[in-house]
This record gives sequence, C-alpha cells and structure tokens, in this order.
Amino acid sequence: MIGLGRPLDQTTCSRADCRAAGRWRLDWRNPRIHSTDRVKIWLACNEHVDYLREFLSARDFPLTVRALEPCAQDSLGDQQ
Ligand SMILES: [Zn+2]
Repeated sequence: MIGLGRPLDQTTCSRADCRAAGRWRLDWRNPRIHSTDRVKIWLACNEHVDYLREFLSARDFPLTVRALEPCAQDSLGDQQ
C-alpha cells in the first residue's frame, strides 16, 4: 500500500515516506468516484514520478503529468 491523499499544501513527493521535494505534478481523477470537474493533484520527485504515473495509469485513471516549475509561467503562454 502507498499512502494516498496527502493535501497539496505540502510540496513534497506524494509517495509514501518520501520527503523529497516535488518536481512533477500529476493531475488525475477516479472516474468511478469523482465527477469530471473533480481532479486530484499529487506531487512527485524525479525518482517517483514514474512510479506514481504507472500506479495511476494501471488503473486507467485520466492523468496529466506536468513538470512543476514554480518560476515558469508557460501555462499562460499565448505568446508567439
Ligand atoms: Zn519521491
């Protein structure tokens, strides 16, 4: 079992017992229990991003993985 459901006010990896800083953000939801506007967010360190992504994709959960770049505002990017 891995520990799930840590709140996002932490910036550490969501993997159980990992204290590393989160470098990746995984937005996911469980279609069986979550409505379409309900998205859970995990953070992952470089070491565990693959583990968590596999954990979620193995369950066929809709999943988006993005690098967590606090200084980058690329998500706003309408710039040419
Ligand atoms: Zn980790």
